[in-house]
Amino acid sequence: MSNIPPTRAAALAHLEAFAPRMGRLYAAGRNTDPGPGQRQDVSELSAHIRHRLITEEEVVRLALAHHGAEAAEKFIQEVFWRSYWKGFLELRPSMWRHFESKVAADQARLATDALLRGRHEMAMMGLTGIECFNAWVHELKETGYLHNHVRMWFAGIWIFTLKLPWALGADFFLHHLKDADPASNTLSWRWVAGIQTPGKHYVVRPENIERYTNDRFNPEGELDVCCEPLNEPPPPPPGSLPPADAARGRVALLLHSDDVTFWPERCEVVALAGLSVARPCADGAANFAEAALEDGLAMAEARLGTPAARLTPGSLAAWAMAQDVDAIVTPWAPVGWVADALAVAASGVPLLRARRAWDSTCWPLARAGFFPFKDKIPTILQELSIAPDALPLFGR
Ligand SMILES: Cc1cc2nc3c(=O)[nH]c(=O)nc-3n(C[C@H](O)[C@H](O)[C@H](O)COP(=O)(O)OP(=O)(O)OC[C@H]3O[C@@H](n4cnc5c(N)ncnc54)[C@H](O)[C@@H]3O)c2cc1C
Repeated sequence: MSNIPPTRAAALAHLEAFAPRMGRLYAAGRNTDPGPGQRQDVSELSAHIRHRLITEEEVVRLALAHHGAEAAEKFIQEVFWRSYWKGFLELRPSMWRHFESKVAADQARLATDALLRGRHEMAMMGLTGIECFNAWVHELKETGYLHNHVRMWFAGIWIFTLKLPWALGADFFLHHLKDADPASNTLSWRWVAGIQTPGKHYVVRPENIERYTNDRFNPEGELDVCCEPLNEPPPPPPGSLPPADAARGRVALLLHSDDVTFWPERCEVVALAGLSVARPCADGAANFAEAALEDGLAMAEARLGTPAARLTPGSLAAWAMAQDVDAIVTPWAPVGWVADALAVAASGVPLLRARRAWDSTCWPLARAGFFPFKDKIPTILQELSIAPDALPLFGR
């Protein structure tokens, strides 16, 4: 059901329907991909969570309410992968710059290396000799979604069998995914390549694909299973999380596609706008982000009782000047294209970047690998008053 409409109402309805499966059924079935239209054991809500039509906190609360901490542990951990990756990149913003310059350098290579360009084009058209890979290319382009296990296989085949540059693969995902996310995508591709956890790469095995696609595919003899991890510099050490701004007084609220349901506390919101940030990507991905923002704006308009202005980075400063407010408040845009656009467009604008308690609690903890982070999930849930009793059961 990877075509859940890009609205909060649709996401909540789907979430309610999926809630009974967030416990042991999820733990048992989440790695299997029975194919488009057949999936029952994963939520397919990543695009809605990524744009925050629904939040990580809402999803985790529902899982706990339905199943308790022990049975919902696996599902909750998966949701925390998103927060972990976001925190990891937020503490190391240079990794995003590094990725962008790698994409640019690889694209320049394509311009001069006809052989590489040909192999790259064949892969992006789904015209390799590997049937499963070709099917996933078509699914990605048609639906803007791939199952998590498929994303791992896809990236592994791209890097180690097709021997294409990892950054171009990550860029291809960002182009088509409705949940395209700078942190989860870049760092997951790095993880598959063996440069996120240096020396540990993800080797794709044909029998694994056969088993977890319910025998739909068997690429026996087609994959390079003797590959070595890529040799690139490891992630830099973490910096510290920049402080969020405290928003007070009479403000205008500026929403964007990184968080479409934010509402500042302790403020009098008197005006509203949505900022559209264009980026080069497929229509499906762009339309999802725009529609999610429209839905968020419609809810905020109903709450405020006045219509929202629709802005581009070029029209932000003039709109901000015309508001009779103490400040413009915007939800924190994590490292990525929205934050980049805001940084340029908001120069001279009294813009306060507010952050959800969820992010402020999780992100500073993403200093090393996921496992030490995972061990802190019970503490995080307690600190956020989400699961005060979960501690004894969780994280074993
Ligand atoms: C190479 C690669 C690239 C990826 N690129 C992206 C991306 O651009 N955007 C993106 O949102 N996710 C990305 N992921 C993570 C993950 O594959 C998707 O979030 C996942 O497929 C979501 O499907 P779902 O909603 O059905 O997940 P479910 O299994 O139902 O999980 C529930 C929620 O937990 C979160 N989640 C689950 N697994 C992960 C994970 N491994 N990492 C981060 N969050 C997770 C998602 O918010 C998801 O909606 C990538 C993974 C890999 C291996």
